[in-house]
Amino acid sequence: MNDIRIDISSDTSTRPDADMLKAMAEAVVGDEQKRADPTVNALQERVAEICGTEAALFLPSGTMSNLIAVLVQCPRGSEIIAHRAAHLFTMEAGGPAALGGAMTTPVDTPGGIFTRADIEPMVKQAEKKHWVGTSMIEIEQTSNRGGGSIWPIETIAEITDLAREKGVVMHMDGARLFNATVASGIAAAEYAQHFDTLWIDLSKGLGCPVGSVLTGSRDFIEKAWPWKHRLGGAMRQAGVIAAAGLYALENNIDRLAEDHANAAQLAEGLAAIDGITLKWGMPQTNLVFLNVEDTGLTGPEIAAGLAERGISIGIDNDRELRAVTHLDVTSADMDDVIAAMSEVVSRK
Ligand SMILES: *Cc1c(COP(=O)(O)O)cnc(C)c1O
Repeated sequence: MNDIRIDISSDTSTRPDADMLKAMAEAVVGDEQKRADPTVNALQERVAEICGTEAALFLPSGTMSNLIAVLVQCPRGSEIIAHRAAHLFTMEAGGPAALGGAMTTPVDTPGGIFTRADIEPMVKQAEKKHWVGTSMIEIEQTSNRGGGSIWPIETIAEITDLAREKGVVMHMDGARLFNATVASGIAAAEYAQHFDTLWIDLSKGLGCPVGSVLTGSRDFIEKAWPWKHRLGGAMRQAGVIAAAGLYALENNIDRLAEDHANAAQLAEGLAAIDGITLKWGMPQTNLVFLNVEDTGLTGPEIAAGLAERGISIGIDNDRELRAVTHLDVTSADMDDVIAAMSEVVSRK
């Protein structure tokens, strides 16, 4: 296989740049397990400040953030309501069930977003001994499998009203929360006020090599700490990686708008190619889902053709591909991808 020049398979494929590496090299560090790493502490404080929450906890991954939110807040045998395609349900190796004993109740709506009306009949309280009680409603901002779509704040607020009425926890998977804030102009704290707990990913669009920050009330974060230890997520001189997070929060949020512009450029160019359609229409943020069925080629065949031309794209299934823009790809790269795709599709 040729060397990959343009990797649009995921926004996790970014490499730390020279300035981020410099911030990491200069980090003042201590023992994070003892809460004595000043850079980790500063990162946690910064995330709590941005989200308007009381406290935060640095963790190695978004998956661990989701898992700890479940372990602290969902009693064994209780139920989590989330979209069927939620990362929590589909791509975290069954953590909520394997380690938390949680039931998962999927919501089926097109596009990854649901409303209060969609779930109101599903929310159950264990007032009868044989009923499963709902403990958590989880939403993904932006919706990954919903094409990077943004949950409208009104929709969230209505679901939160329901959750508060029923005594159910609201949890946000904020892997791409900042894509939503930049595209919608709605601040992270405005979204966050509707949730008991949420987390942000540092290793997606923000461009860090590692890390996630879970946030919520002080009481929640104190309960999260022992789980961080139990799961092996307590680190030592983790300030080296936390420094990348602080750098990214300062420098890499506003520029997500470029990723959105590149995604729009890519979507428009690819949709103009015969046989390619946009599964979710024009992207709201940085994810572009393509249906390639009518090209006469399968998704894997097209991906192989692009790989020969130095481009890596995500394969969802035989008919569908996923492209993701991020800080290591440019507008000129999008032109290259569109040209390569034209060539691959027309040479079949
Ligand atoms: C990537 C991702 C996660 C998991 O984050 P990791 O840091 O890779 O563990 C969770 N939810 C969504 C929506 C994601 O895209």
